[in-house]
Amino acid sequence: MSLKNKYLADVYETVKRRDGNEPEFLQAVIEVLESLEPVVEADPTIEQLGIIERLVEPERFVQFRVAWVDDSGKTQVNRGFRVQFNSAIGPYKGGLRFHPSVYSGIVKFLGFEQIFKNSLTSLPIGGGKGGSDFDPKGKSDNEVMKFCQAFMTELSRHIGQFTDTPAGDIGVGGREIGYLYGQYKRVVNQFAAGVLTGKGLTFGGSLARTEATGFGCCYFTRELLKDNGDSFEGKTVCITGSGNVAIYAAVKATQLGAKVITLSDSAGYVYDPDGIDTDLVKDIKEVRRARIKEYVDSKPNAEYHEGKPWRNVKADIFMPCATQNDIDLDDAKAIVASGAIACIECANMPCTTDAVEYFRAQDIYFAPSKAVNAGGVAVSALEMSQNSERLSWTFEEVDAKLEQIMTNIYANCAAAAKKYGGDLVSGANIAGFLKVCEAMKAQGIV
Ligand code: NDP
Repeated sequence: MSLKNKYLADVYETVKRRDGNEPEFLQAVIEVLESLEPVVEADPTIEQLGIIERLVEPERFVQFRVAWVDDSGKTQVNRGFRVQFNSAIGPYKGGLRFHPSVYSGIVKFLGFEQIFKNSLTSLPIGGGKGGSDFDPKGKSDNEVMKFCQAFMTELSRHIGQFTDTPAGDIGVGGREIGYLYGQYKRVVNQFAAGVLTGKGLTFGGSLARTEATGFGCCYFTRELLKDNGDSFEGKTVCITGSGNVAIYAAVKATQLGAKVITLSDSAGYVYDPDGIDTDLVKDIKEVRRARIKEYVDSKPNAEYHEGKPWRNVKADIFMPCATQNDIDLDDAKAIVASGAIACIECANMPCTTDAVEYFRAQDIYFAPSKAVNAGGVAVSALEMSQNSERLSWTFEEVDAKLEQIMTNIYANCAAAAKKYGGDLVSGANIAGFLKVCEAMKAQGIV
């Protein structure tokens, strides 16, 4: 990728100089800046007001020590992070990721993407993200609780329902949010439910939040297919991951008439020619917290393979739902060569820059994560609305709002793509940017 506009090229050089040790962040920034070239060319006030150099610099970045004691009595020390990237359109909002790979570059790439994603939802939420290099895998419930309490004791100084409102992400599900919320409530002595989303239903959580990201990915895909005279009906779908996003993308794709043939984890993937049994997967992953490999023990026709499915599985639609940079250029070539009609980014930034460039140049539908997976944060914002109202909406009400939001996101991305002569990748970046840009202009140089 290269930037032709001098202003954008200069801004990017500065980011590279300052943050050259954070490749994931640079990857997210260059993609957005490239998309914004026609917008910046058309509006000289963006440069005059320094909008882009302010956009790429977080308003605040916090790193802190998290010390806790494991079940054997040993003291463990992890790193905690929170980036408060942009609050132009609302309080910072974005998930917490607990995974050994978490460092400043991961947190900043996710926080930067979140600015545009949250703007696309049309709801009043700014961009933030956080997490820790703590690995919940293999830890007892007691250890997870101890860690969450230590993490929140420090994080609580920096967040609040009108300031910054975290949620879940990789490694942070309902159990972790429960422990984090319990500690927040204890520290601040307030039942300020809106400070965290993804809460349990007994203490302010929203129905359909668990399903929201995966369902939203499928609503977006349905709109994309519909716009091109097609549908999920009768399609085979290759999904990776077997966490929150993957499971509910599989559930909704199946409801919409597709056959999901794979799910995976970081060790390998299961292939089920009869279609993935999502109830069985929920039991393995959500109840037993076991590995996806166990799926084949109950399904004689299913196979388990180590590694990734991209070069081995033939499907109509590929939906990577695991982690960043999971599909590289050779994987993308194999997917296109296999005759697939679509690659839908459901995880955050699951394709490398080369892979994205390749997909965009081919005859395949390609949809970017910041639009596709925005349903999760959208329902998180709806959870905050319910907390403010002190009311709970029904599953059907929340799901209907999610469906409408995803339909609008697709339409707005497609419209921006058409107006500026691009595709869904640039359309999502531009549509997300314009609202933030207007708000930043109105609020002066801050
Ligand atoms: P979960 O922790 O529930 O599941 C993550 C899944 O991805 C697991 O199956 C995990 O396997 C796999 N995975 C994680 N890291 C790797 C890796 N390095 N290599 C291969 N597989 C890996 O996370 P979510 O489902 O919540 O999140 C998945 C993606 O969706 C992430 O990119 C996240 O940022 C994004 N997202 C999530 C939202 C949400 O609401 N949860 C909202 C928007 C985006 P294993 O168990 O072996 O690690």
